[in-house]
Amino acid sequence: KLFNEIQELKGNIRVYCRLRPFLPGQKEKQSIVEHIGENDLVVANPAKTGKDALKTFKFNKVFGPTSTQGEVYSDVQAFIRSVLDGFNVCIFAYGQTGSGKTYTMSGPNNATPESVGVNYRALNDLFSISTIPDATMLPVKSTSDVIKLMDIGLKNRAKGSTAMNERSSRSHSVVSIHVRGVDQKSGSSLHGNLHLVDLAGSERVDRSEVTGDRLKEAQHINKSLSALGDVIFALSQKSSHVPYRNSKLTQLLQSSLGGQAKTLMLVQINSDIKSFSESLSTLKFAERVS
Ligand code: ADP
Ligand code: MG
Repeated sequence: KLFNEIQELKGNIRVYCRLRPFLPGQKEKQSIVEHIGENDLVVANPAKTGKDALKTFKFNKVFGPTSTQGEVYSDVQAFIRSVLDGFNVCIFAYGQTGSGKTYTMSGPNNATPESVGVNYRALNDLFSISTIPDATMLPVKSTSDVIKLMDIGLKNRAKGSTAMNERSSRSHSVVSIHVRGVDQKSGSSLHGNLHLVDLAGSERVDRSEVTGDRLKEAQHINKSLSALGDVIFALSQKSSHVPYRNSKLTQLLQSSLGGQAKTLMLVQINSDIKSFSESLSTLKFAERVS
């Protein structure tokens, strides 16, 4: 049933929104969110009053601040399972630094089985569902963890590869998993790719604050995020030209964006009033592609 639901996706792109809760010890606890529905979110512009202040954004699903990692994963799982049916899937978390991208994708530091994120759950699912009994799973937090995981993957004839940067807000983190299997009914071979992406923070960097290498890095990140937005936008419009070649990120993800591939964008929001303008630009990015 879940699989059929996925097949009916408009343009195979889904957009979920997740609100980060206020953290213990956080002083500012004024939220810009006025209403959280299952499929919509109403935000209030603190600079305006009355109806003019309110704007509604629609999503395939909204996860409020009390949502659990398990709840989020239950709406992600069908994408992961379809990799075993030979689909290419790309799941990425987008949002400003501090909005919960890494929490959703990987989990907090020292995660427990309850708090681990999508990456761990996805890998766990792939190993437990597929033809690979007794696989050992590792949370992927560093290059060496990924290498260990790749060794395990190789032993089990699943082929893993990765381009993973340090756990940093100023870089994209991409875990790529290539699954090979055999269709039980027809005996033909199946290939599915899964890309799990924790994007660099989407916040605009003030040109006056950074110079030199940091400015170049910021410009590079902004360029790759807007290139990703352009690709997703072109796909959502079913445009005949999809500009994959404008960044290395979109080239890397190309096999899992467009065509028969399924794309899930996890839009992360920090509802703190101080983050209003960044949250608005994140929501507008999401609105453009959904
Ligand atoms: P980002 O990766 O977008 O920069 P993080 O995932 O590092 O943001 O989140 C920032 C902080 O908020 C971290 O301390 C993280 O553990 C916490 N956090 C984020 N999302 C949640 C959540 N849903 N529940 C509890 N804590 C969260
Ligand atoms: Mg992060």
